[in-house]
Amino acid sequence: MTFVQPTSWPEALEARAATPEAVAVAGGTDVLVELNFDRMHPGALIDLSHVAELRGWSRENGQIRVGSGLTYDQIITELAAELPGLAMAARTVGSPPIRNRGTIGGNLGSASPAGDCHPPLMACGAQVEVASTSASRSIPIGDFFLGPKRSELRDDELIAAIWVPKATGPQVFSKVGTRNAMVIAGCSFALALHSDERRVGTGIGSAGPVPLRAEAAERFLEGHLEETGAWETRPSLSDSVMGRFGELVAEAAQPIDDVRASAAYRRHALYVLGRRALSWCWDEYSEPGR
Ligand SMILES: Cc1cc2nc3c(=O)[nH]c(=O)nc-3n(C[C@H](O)[C@H](O)[C@H](O)COP(=O)(O)OP(=O)(O)OC[C@H]3O[C@@H](n4cnc5c(N)ncnc54)[C@H](O)[C@@H]3O)c2cc1C
Repeated sequence: MTFVQPTSWPEALEARAATPEAVAVAGGTDVLVELNFDRMHPGALIDLSHVAELRGWSRENGQIRVGSGLTYDQIITELAAELPGLAMAARTVGSPPIRNRGTIGGNLGSASPAGDCHPPLMACGAQVEVASTSASRSIPIGDFFLGPKRSELRDDELIAAIWVPKATGPQVFSKVGTRNAMVIAGCSFALALHSDERRVGTGIGSAGPVPLRAEAAERFLEGHLEETGAWETRPSLSDSVMGRFGELVAEAAQPIDDVRASAAYRRHALYVLGRRALSWCWDEYSEPGR
């Protein structure tokens, strides 16, 4: 097997162009499992872990440009204030060694419907910046995933960064699995209140072939908050509003029965997660002085 270890972004793109059949490796927490279980036999590996350009993040025009090589650990320690939903999701990933090695770019690259970064990125309306030696392009997160483990990324492209708008209101993420830690989600849900734009964002994980948005739930809550003036007055939300929101989240899912959960359980859990996420976000929003 050829092992290529570029030390700069241009070199990495050159390597990608020269060996389109190669598999890129960032933290290796997905790729190494595939190799160890003999499920993958690439002729070449391109190790991205020495490409410094991928490991940083910056603030640009109200957005955070998150380098694809940022680890979960870095997201938690460096970006919790600006991207609270993503940081909350990062805290639920694997174990300390996995959070120390695993990257946001690798989560997107694997394109598993259960990837924990995906729901908060959907709820925030993130954009994925990808590049080849000839061009770079920006893909809305909702268009990035094509199916289980399939994405828009072409053979000659790498993920450079993910652009995420800075939070302007509360954001939460939660997931359900068979135990509290080291668990791939049976289903997951993220909610973001974009209070500056009076917009609601959602993301559903592990309950469809790709990460989904609960668009009817978003419209319902936006309508309610607008009609009642609640964005300004911040009153308590009634049980019926929270319940309806949960129902619409559950209705947006496209779950299947598999080893992690039944479709019926996933739908029920999403009702609970949707309702709970709204109560957490709204409690934070309606706190006096916030
Ligand atoms: C024990 C264990 C527990 C885990 N727990 C969780 C969990 O709770 N939640 C969760 O979501 N995941 C979990 N995972 C899966 C994994 O850790 C994540 O998907 C992680 O984000 C992968 O990142 P990585 O950098 O290790 O990716 P890698 O393994 O290096 O790569 C993964 C894929 O992405 C591609 N890739 C990587 N970087 C780029 C790039 N810049 N451009 C283009 N393609 C790229 C690779 O070619 C490969 O196809 C777990 C894995 C293990 C082994």
